[in-house]
Amino acid sequence: MATYIRKLGLVLKNYTDGLGHMLFTNVCLHCNKELISAERYLCWLCWEGMERTYFELQVEPTKLDQLFWSRTKIKHTCALYFYAKGSASQSLIRALKYDFKAPLGIYLGTHMAKQLSTHPIRHVDAILPVPIHPKKKFARGYNQSELLARGLAKEWKVPVWSYLVRKEKHTRSQTTNDRFGRWDNVQQTFKSLRNLPKELHILIVDDVITTGATLESLVCAIRDSEPSVQISLLSFAFTK
Ligand SMILES: [Zn+2]
Repeated sequence: MATYIRKLGLVLKNYTDGLGHMLFTNVCLHCNKELISAERYLCWLCWEGMERTYFELQVEPTKLDQLFWSRTKIKHTCALYFYAKGSASQSLIRALKYDFKAPLGIYLGTHMAKQLSTHPIRHVDAILPVPIHPKKKFARGYNQSELLARGLAKEWKVPVWSYLVRKEKHTRSQTTNDRFGRWDNVQQTFKSLRNLPKELHILIVDDVITTGATLESLVCAIRDSEPSVQISLLSFAFTK
């Protein structure tokens, strides 16, 4: 009972802290400089300082393509920014995950859609945000990948299928595990809930791709349900 009350307290603190920050501050999420009215979430310098991958312009296979070689077949992959410790992209993702900033997720999704408006990755039948466990969603207030997906969907006029796949287990945090440990941790934690039409093209959206283990597990769950499904991947950031 004491543990439950402590957990509930942490959830409420998360909500109230986030709400307070949202209502009373308007500073850059990375450098804390006060924003001018035209700036959103980051100051101009921090936006410009984020390292773009420009994977969408690369003709040769990207590092992200190569991450899935010999693991699973992916039609298109793309990530907008590199993710590194101390970077502005890390500050954005941290705020999105832990600071109760739902509008930021929609904003970043819309930004991604505009940056990739001519990329073939937009020509999909549906967008699937990487599911998180309902307990985590309750604690966070939302699924951050779903917000990114909704921002993309609004611009690209593509449906979001949030309930296509269910997260089966509440896995431990992945932040301290190595690549192989993470795979053990997330293996077989997704279950496809519907029979899918053949030749469907689905875009899976995530906030950050690091090892690709979660995505690989998710792709396998979808293909277990319908092997002919074509799958593409898009994330806001990619760990170098
Ligand atoms: Zn800044």
